[in-house]
Amino acid sequence: MIEIKTPAQLDAMRAAGLVVAKTLATLSAAVRPGVSTGELDELAEQTIRDAGAVPSFKGYHGFPASICASVNEQIVHGIPAKSQVLADGDMISIDCGAILDDWHGDSAVTLFVGTVADPDQALSDATHASMLAGIAAIVPGARLTDVSHAIETSVHSSERAHGRSYGIVREYGGHGIGSSMHMDPFLPNHGKPGKGPRLRVGMAIAIEPMLTLGAEETVELEDGWTVITADGSRAAHWEHTVAITDDGPWVLTAPE
Ligand code: MG
Ligand code: MG
Repeated sequence: MIEIKTPAQLDAMRAAGLVVAKTLATLSAAVRPGVSTGELDELAEQTIRDAGAVPSFKGYHGFPASICASVNEQIVHGIPAKSQVLADGDMISIDCGAILDDWHGDSAVTLFVGTVADPDQALSDATHASMLAGIAAIVPGARLTDVSHAIETSVHSSERAHGRSYGIVREYGGHGIGSSMHMDPFLPNHGKPGKGPRLRVGMAIAIEPMLTLGAEETVELEDGWTVITADGSRAAHWEHTVAITDDGPWVLTAPE
């Protein structure tokens, strides 16, 4: 069963989404060489709580922090630490979730620390473009994997435009969201169109493609959380929480 939200409930999700957007904007301004991911985590928790919300990641299946901070070859679910200090040339994906009045927002950005290498910029651009393609495909009457197919098609289009190939991470993907962070349906970031449930007004889905500069294989570290590329290549991750409305997709975690 996919949760269907009323317009008032989507308004409440938008309020939660704005807390996430504000937190990610605050973190984006704080990312620079010499800052630790542990410091970014403290800033995130403070920003979320100052808004009257609760960091949804903290304690989620035992996760110890308010953000996931995934640096370079880390793809997702990196645990922030004071010992993990950002250096010039790093890239970092920050994933953030907040609960406000029992409704969830979930969003991720990929940021650069100082100098940006061309392949890293292209990787992040391709990931962001594929997220936007997925968002555009979230329309009433579409099938779930129409969205997956739109994401994959966008990645291949970027590959042609950039003259390089990207790995599309398979083990992780988007998800329904609302009264919980992770709900049905699971949304793969690749695949044939025309399958899965029909999308309806009132559904909300987190769209979150993850791409690598190398292969798609992943490894989970012994900390039980951090997911890295098996080949050590760098990864990017972008995510928005999106509602399906009569007027089209509503990006609930977009900045105001
Ligand atoms: Mg997320
Ligand atoms: Mg998510």
